[in-house]
Amino acid sequence: MFLKIKLVAYNLNFIDIFKFVIIIFFKKEKNMPVPKRRHSKSRGRKRRTHWKLKVSQWVECSHCHQLKLPHTVCPHCGFYKGKEIIVVNKKTE
Ligand SMILES: [Zn+2]
Repeated sequence: MFLKIKLVAYNLNFIDIFKFVIIIFFKKEKNMPVPKRRHSKSRGRKRRTHWKLKVSQWVECSHCHQLKLPHTVCPHCGFYKGKEIIVVNKKTE
């Protein structure tokens, strides 16, 4: 009864109601986990010890011998595995 009154007040059609139901069904906001206690400073810091930056690995291009990222087309000559994949425009100044 209450739901019906509310829906009439918002002037929703059937499609809007259907979308609303789908959103509620998939979001499940009522069942979101909530932490019971805050973690200590050391606990958070211990977890964050694994957050490290990786140095990107560079390899030499077999065609032009410039450094490039592995498993990628060379940005200097456009070659990959000995074949020209892209045509690189050389800057003319
Ligand atoms: Zn190259």
